[in-house]
Amino acid sequence: MLGFKGNKMKCFNHESKDAVGLCKHCSKGLCIDCCTDLGHGIACKGIHEKEVEQINSLIENNKRVYESQPKGSLIMPFFYLLMGVAFIFYGMKRGFDSLTFILGCGFAACGIIMFVYNTKFFKKITTKYST
Ligand SMILES: [Zn+2]
Ligand SMILES: [Zn+2]
Repeated sequence: MLGFKGNKMKCFNHESKDAVGLCKHCSKGLCIDCCTDLGHGIACKGIHEKEVEQINSLIENNKRVYESQPKGSLIMPFFYLLMGVAFIFYGMKRGFDSLTFILGCGFAACGIIMFVYNTKFFKKITTKYST
């Protein structure tokens, strides 16, 4: 195989030409003549343009979902925490070895773990977008 020993990658269609990038759909190396630059990625000219456009719109949609997630993602941890506190409260009346109390501890622990995880995740996203 050509172009796999530290050399520059070659075009899938022309072994003599250097590839300028990979098709976002099929990951083949493409030279300038074989690719279409779609602005946010390249595609096999006349073959995968539509597919790559679809991938790009998918990625755009995902980005939007991620951006809107941090606010919503803190609702679930709080919900679990609330459930946990309620269960612990009622469980304590029944005794510390009651199922209600144990469930409450479980819910609260879940809530805390989710909260920590989501805040970390949130921080990661905000730092990523601020740089
Ligand atoms: Zn392709
Ligand atoms: Zn080519």
